[in-house]
Parts: sequence; C-alpha cells; structure tokens
Amino acid sequence: MIFNRLRIGCFGLSILITQACAANAGKPTEQPEEETVRFANTEQDHRPSFSTILTIFKRAMFEKRSNIKPDVALVQALEKEALAALDDEGLYLIKLGHSSLLLKVYGEYWLIDPVFGERASPVSFAGPKRFEPPAISLQDLPAIDKVFLSHNHYDHLDKGSIEFLARRAALFLVPLGVDQQIMDMGVPAQRIQTFNWWDEQPFAKAKVVFTPTQHFSGRTPWDSNETLWGSWTLLFAEVKVFFSGDSGYFGGFKEIGEKYGPFDITLMENGAYDKNWPAVHMFPEQTVQAHIDLQGKVLIPIHNSTFDLAFHPWDEPLNEVRRISQQKGVSLRLPAFGEIVDLRKPIIADNQ
Ligand SMILES: [Zn+2]
Ligand SMILES: [Zn+2]
Repeated sequence: MIFNRLRIGCFGLSILITQACAANAGKPTEQPEEETVRFANTEQDHRPSFSTILTIFKRAMFEKRSNIKPDVALVQALEKEALAALDDEGLYLIKLGHSSLLLKVYGEYWLIDPVFGERASPVSFAGPKRFEPPAISLQDLPAIDKVFLSHNHYDHLDKGSIEFLARRAALFLVPLGVDQQIMDMGVPAQRIQTFNWWDEQPFAKAKVVFTPTQHFSGRTPWDSNETLWGSWTLLFAEVKVFFSGDSGYFGGFKEIGEKYGPFDITLMENGAYDKNWPAVHMFPEQTVQAHIDLQGKVLIPIHNSTFDLAFHPWDEPLNEVRRISQQKGVSLRLPAFGEIVDLRKPIIADNQ
C-alpha cells in the first residue's frame, strides 16, 4: 500500500523539488562565477507554496482513486526485422512507451527520451512502475545514430537506458547541463552536443532545433533547475515534426509555430496534469490549444498510458483529448505503442 502510494509520492517529489530554487527571470541565463547556474521559464515558474506541497502529499496518501492502470494490453511488439525492412529513404515514427519514441529517418535511427527501465524513479524498489514493457527491448534496438533528451526528469532520462546506449549511440543531443549528467552515466564527452533554447543544428537531410517549454528540472532535492528543459523541433525536407517534451501551456508554442510551423505532426504532452501543478503540465484542452498554436496538422498525444504519474485515471488524457479534438476540428492520431507510422503518407486521423 505504502509503495503504491509512493508511486505518486515520487512524482510529487519531482514536482516539489524546484521549490527551493531561486531562479533567474526571463530566458535561461548564467549567474556569476561560483554561483550555481539555474534556469527559468519565460512566463511562469514552478514554485509551489508550502500548503500546496502539503496538499499534494495528503492527496498522495489518502485520495481515493480508480482506474489507475489499463486492464488491456496497449503495447504491440516491434520486431527488429520489421524495423530493418523499412525503406532507407523513408520517414517513420514509432511510440515505444510514455514519451519514448523511435524514428527511422533516411536510414538513421533516432531515439527521443528513451526510457526502457521498469520504474521512472531514482530507486529500483519504489516509484512509478510501467504498466507494460516498452515495444522493443534495448537489446533488440538497432545501432542508434542520435539520442535526443528533453530534460532530466526520471520519466525522460533513464540512467539504465543511457548507460546501455552510452557507447552504442553515436550522438546525444541534450539541454544545457544534462551533458554532465549523462557523462556520469558513461557517455563520452565527444558524443554529446548541448543546446540552449533556439539553438539550431543542421544535418545532411534535416535541421533540428531545441525549442522552449514551460517546465522545470531536477533529479534530487538539491539540483532544481540546474539543467535546462525544452522541446525538439525536427525539420525534414518533406515533413516537420514537433516533440513537446514536458510543458505547461504558454505563449512559446505560438512563437515556435510562427517560426517553424506549420507542423505536419505534433507529438504533444497529454497526461500527468493536475490542478496542484498547472504551470508545468498541460490539461487536455491546453494540449489541443498548444497544437493549434503550433499550427499543427495532426496531433499525436504522448506522455500517457505507461506510468501513473498524477491523480487522474490512466485513460482520462486520451478520452479528453479525443473529445476536445473532435469539438475543435483537430485531426488526432492515436497510434498504438509499437505501431509503425509512415510520416510521408497522408496520415489518416482516428477521429475523422
Ligand atoms: Zn518533466
Ligand atoms: Zn514527464
């Protein structure tokens, strides 16, 4: 029982640890030498009051909850042979679980926020446990060309996965400050490229941009906001993709849309929202609005159906996003974990 409660307790902890942070206003800026560098959001920072912290813990311990996890299998196995057989000139995307994605783009394999561990937690015995294994195992992955990280929370940066990929993946693209953390996990410095917001990196057939979000970072109570957080804008000649990472709703989505949109696909955070942390995760109507702000054409929700990280039922994010998309005339696609989505083909929305 206590361990069950700790599922959310751990997430609550991650929600709370920025409380002690004295962040800079405005864009991420560095403080004078010797002082710890801390990053800040452009509009609203996450600084819960003491009473909010108390409320979250009380709710984690005593709130009556139902429909916490699915009673049906949501993951279909992704065979390595099926991946290998995909056209080397194509653009494919596969949801592996939570916000973890595998892309095969022009023959290269890209991983985003790879979390293959059993728990999104600093410890192996407690914390949010995944409902099902990821669609493919680490061992079955092909050689990875690029790993993208959005921020350092446990449901996005998994130590075991990074340790496994450390010498197998050619390049890690990470927010400022996360470089040191993955070096500690065994990634050689020469394989890491760090990004500030709006930093662009052109490659042979794509350009990637690290774009802002409204969120926070930290893996312990002592490192709040010492590393940057953000989203990834992936611009291919034929297709534009936006990956939200974690974010509250803010004006940055419109700005990104104006700069790089319209996006063919937006992979949008949809899950782990709560009235006690409204600034750093989006409610479903905000997920849909952010997609509209980004000038997205097809919305694919992520950040749900894998870990129990908040107080809402596991399927509420998808039910709500389906209802609101319908209302607003937004094309929604809900691929299963492990399903291969061909990004060059016109994407048939699930709600039309
Ligand atoms: Zn996060
Ligand atoms: Zn997250």
